[in-house]
Amino acid sequence: MQEDFHHLSIVVKGIVQGVGFRPFVYHLAKSLNVHGYVRNSTQGVMIEIEGPKKNTQEFLQKLSTEKPRCAWITHIQSCDKPVVGYRNFEIEHSTQSSMIDTVILPDMSICGDCLNEIFDPLNRRYRYPFTNCTNCGPRYSIITKFPYDRENTTMDVFSMCQDCRDEYTNPQNRRFHAQPNACHACGPHLQLLKETGEVISTHDAALCNAVEAIRCGEIVAVKGLGGFHFVVDATNEAAVKKLREKKQRFYKPFAIMYPNLQSVKNDCFVSQLEENLLISPESPIVLLRHKNDVYPWVAPQNLYYGVMLPYTPLHALIIHDLQRPIVVTSGNRSHECICTQEDYAIQTLGNVASLFLVHNRKIAHHADDSIVRVVMGREMVMRRARGYAPRPILLKRDMPSTLAVGGDLKNSIALSVANNVFISPYLGDLQVKTNYEAFCNNVSFIQKIYATAPQSLIGDAHPGYCSNYLLNERENVVRVQHHHAHILSCMAEYQLHGPVLGLAWDGSGYGLDATVWGGEFLEVNNADFRRTAHFRRFCLPGGEKAVTEPRRCAAGLLFEIYGEQVFDLDLPVWKTFSAHEKQILQAMLKNKINAPQTSSVGRIFDAVASLLNLCQQQEFEGQAAMLVEFLAEEKNCTAYPVALSKGEFMEIDWEPMLREIVDDITKGVCATTIATKFHLFLIEAAVRIARRVAIKNVVLSGGCFQNKYLLEGCIRQLRREGFSVYWHREIPTNDEGISLGQIYACYLQQNKGDL
Ligand SMILES: [Zn+2]
Ligand SMILES: [Zn+2]
Repeated sequence: MQEDFHHLSIVVKGIVQGVGFRPFVYHLAKSLNVHGYVRNSTQGVMIEIEGPKKNTQEFLQKLSTEKPRCAWITHIQSCDKPVVGYRNFEIEHSTQSSMIDTVILPDMSICGDCLNEIFDPLNRRYRYPFTNCTNCGPRYSIITKFPYDRENTTMDVFSMCQDCRDEYTNPQNRRFHAQPNACHACGPHLQLLKETGEVISTHDAALCNAVEAIRCGEIVAVKGLGGFHFVVDATNEAAVKKLREKKQRFYKPFAIMYPNLQSVKNDCFVSQLEENLLISPESPIVLLRHKNDVYPWVAPQNLYYGVMLPYTPLHALIIHDLQRPIVVTSGNRSHECICTQEDYAIQTLGNVASLFLVHNRKIAHHADDSIVRVVMGREMVMRRARGYAPRPILLKRDMPSTLAVGGDLKNSIALSVANNVFISPYLGDLQVKTNYEAFCNNVSFIQKIYATAPQSLIGDAHPGYCSNYLLNERENVVRVQHHHAHILSCMAEYQLHGPVLGLAWDGSGYGLDATVWGGEFLEVNNADFRRTAHFRRFCLPGGEKAVTEPRRCAAGLLFEIYGEQVFDLDLPVWKTFSAHEKQILQAMLKNKINAPQTSSVGRIFDAVASLLNLCQQQEFEGQAAMLVEFLAEEKNCTAYPVALSKGEFMEIDWEPMLREIVDDITKGVCATTIATKFHLFLIEAAVRIARRVAIKNVVLSGGCFQNKYLLEGCIRQLRREGFSVYWHREIPTNDEGISLGQIYACYLQQNKGDL
């Protein structure tokens, strides 16, 4: 025996079951000529190998670098053992599924092998829209309970034909234990329905008819992986406009699905990382800067397209037959979650779509398309759903099971089990009845599937939040202030502990002083925080109404400085109010009736959008702020002046900035300059406060940091001053991240900052 002959004992943990991990290990061992065996255990996947040290080391390295597409490895432990003298390498079969499931895999986009099969006329899965294997296909959207076996998925009603069963039981096959395995002979199939529910055609004819309808400019509702989408030909301006008209959605960008990477590159700038994201198993919508806005009707007034590639065989077939990009947008009634059921779809989407392409594989859980963008050369998830959820965030230590119910807008919920935090997909605005129902279902499902009764419950400090109903009359309830939770959520992503300086900038959140917060600087010491600074407050005439009407934010901001004279200023914003409206507005501001006070940066953005006459009433959240962001490009600008109050508690006064903006508008300075100087003002404010507080770690969170120009500017300037800057990666910076922050508050409390 050679001298460097070596025995390595390896344990791999994470999502390593039902993803082709053991066949992968087998082939890797064969290729490196190492001997031993692999088997599943309650500890994870156990591997014993023997061979020359060079080979065993290479094996260990390739375990993580060449892992199967869907595997998600959290730990690899290895140790040396005495040589036993194995003769070959084997997959050792456990008599039962001894692995303890703890993690549900997200749905994954179609893999290259399956893609080849559906376009190969000689393959038995030629044009089969539900083709999948261990490297791809549905997981989360079909699971009903643990363990993840076929009978515990919505595929339980289909029994495999002999060919499929042979694949399923052969450890060498890439469909070994692929739970949703199916084919033309035994699996789900398509149907094309009229808006009345009447069947027009089935199987491939349904697909062909649907494609033909899309080609002719029809709107087709397509049941995909995690719910229904409206699909129209993106190149057909009239068709897209018809969809906008019917959805009453005139500005909100639609996502575009392109046939392939090359067609994306023709229209958009694509970096290497963006390319990797587009073709990743998560297959999210990637925000890409377009080159020359060839489809302005798809994303009006926007510098970016939300782009994705076909991620299911069904989408791949549709787009292959059409040979052009399509608009793929959530099929839902406005503000509701994406729709998952045929009857509800026909009932609620029939006024938009003329045809329904459906199938008989049930969707157990809805999942919207996820959205990512690249910031500072790094991935940043903006909406976390298909492909990402419900993959856990890992904590260093175990904690008692805790359920966090999140916030009301852009809700998600989170449950901690040992050291995993499971976060639900995006659940939307809970003020909407169907979303609240989905929220309740998720709360019970998440506890049931992880077999956990949480010891404590956490919610927002807001007394009126729907999400908090669940906490009523329960014991061990913890309430975490909204912006504190934002900062904690980002800290959780990095396993940071206090002290940190947190910049929580967003639209609004319930403050602890009866005002609306949203431009906050918090010194976070784990479970406690101190509000160190905030932007100067102003009134929001009309309260909630100001959220959708940037012109009201402008009125509030202006009134704060100019008082009643403000109505005499020659500004475009006043022309948008009728004489009667102006009267009411004046009365509200003067008498402070229905005009809550806020320090929100989001609302200051809205005000600036209104002053620049970019947007007076917004159709969707963030629309006005986005228009200001898109203008901020100018080089050689300096910031509007930042005025800071003295003393320990600091207030950032935007008055000098506002006066200069009004001046600039009067002088006819171009909007790009004003927008740029405004962004630089915010960045400067961030740096000035950070300098004064002088805490090394600065954490950025809240919806305002979806703004790439603002976020990158803050990161660069703060780094230049020597700060360590943290911003979100996999958890959205908006309110979707609140539930994780709530969990992390309890985690830090329990560990007393000792991580
Ligand atoms: Zn596959
Ligand atoms: Zn079959």
